[in-house]
Amino acid sequence: MSLIGRRVLVTGATSGIGEATARACAAEGARVALVARRRERLAALAEELGAVTVEADVRDVDAAAQAVDEAAAGMGGLDAVVNNAGIMRTGTIADGDVDDWRAMLDTNVLGLLAVTKAAIPHLRAAERGDVVNVSSMSGRRVAGSRSAVYSGTKHAVHGISRALRRELHDDRIRVSLVSPGFVDTELDQHQREATIPREVSALRAEDVARAIARLLAEPPEVNVLEVAILPTAQET
Ligand code: NDP
Repeated sequence: MSLIGRRVLVTGATSGIGEATARACAAEGARVALVARRRERLAALAEELGAVTVEADVRDVDAAAQAVDEAAAGMGGLDAVVNNAGIMRTGTIADGDVDDWRAMLDTNVLGLLAVTKAAIPHLRAAERGDVVNVSSMSGRRVAGSRSAVYSGTKHAVHGISRALRRELHDDRIRVSLVSPGFVDTELDQHQREATIPREVSALRAEDVARAIARLLAEPPEVNVLEVAILPTAQET
């Protein structure tokens, strides 16, 4: 596996899957650009990985577009974008909080769209292009009644990705989905309730990162459409 010469932008790169993906891509020789909100973590990673970093909130569509342009300028172009930034707020619809719903839709769906829109001209200008969208098993099935809106955002990511692949087909830009099950990250810590059952030994962020780096390293004529990756101990 080699990513030498590739310029990869990762959103949500300050923790969990995004941070591990940035490390995995850098370890394989890619130039990486990291987009997220937490400035200190970005600065630390910039130093460690020699990465370009852009502090931005992807919910702000103008800021997201500007971040992509800045990242591409910093790397001298863009070959791949990993749309990973995402949040989860579980709960029933009856007791739901509109602000939580809006935050999930704005981050997981509109943020992904804004970053992708801004990335397309850069990807078209590159010799080869990749869009990797981090969805979830919750984009393939519904885990339970407390994840309606989160699951809805990830089903949207699935649908958008499939249509995007057709849109970008003539440009030979690959579009891939990554659909993890339980992964031990900060995702749960930012909400009121824990979702990973105690008895399940979750994946490590590095396990998902390895899958993403492998997708990017496939020869240009090979487009892996989706990687669904579960801990062995997770039933579905
Ligand atoms: P983390 O909470 O560890 O990481 C989320 C990342 O997204 C952080 O770097 C955070 O950075 C960034 N982020 C969140 N909101 C914004 C925003 N508005 N603008 C820019 N960056 C943002 O969780 P994970 O690593 O688990 O999550 C990564 C992706 O994986 C998500 O899309 C999630 O839905 C998906 N996923 C996770 C699973 C799991 O079990 N953990 C399972 C299936 C899918 P900062 O706060 O600095 O902005």
